Amino acid sequence: MQSIEDALNKLEGSKFRSSFHLTKKEKTYLKEKGMTVMESHARDFVAKKLAPADPLNDGKQTPMHGHPVFKAMHATACCCRGCLNKWYKVPLHTKLNEDQEEKIVRLLMAWLERQESKDR
Ligand SMILES: [Zn+2]
Repeated sequence: MQSIEDALNKLEGSKFRSSFHLTKKEKTYLKEKGMTVMESHARDFVAKKLAPADPLNDGKQTPMHGHPVFKAMHATACCCRGCLNKWYKVPLHTKLNEDQEEKIVRLLMAWLERQESKDR
């Protein structure tokens, strides 16, 4: 995986990926919970939805909205193993290691932080 900054810039060049934005409701939720809670949710989603070698319903496991982290997962192409493979060359049918999980969490958090700073 490339650096977080490079990844975010590349994602912004994608019409589809850059079309994801937090709704007002999601922003309020983010503010109320704070970044530390968001990060623990992100870690949890990554562990359950992406880390297994063959996640359940892969390709459809991440809802399009309802949680700021879901939005971040789509916006950063960390929504399913197919997208992780296409964007970051993460091998399919292999359990993610801790380092990979950590990188994904950091990318998701960086995207959320960027979204937050945008409307300040
Ligand atoms: Zn996907």
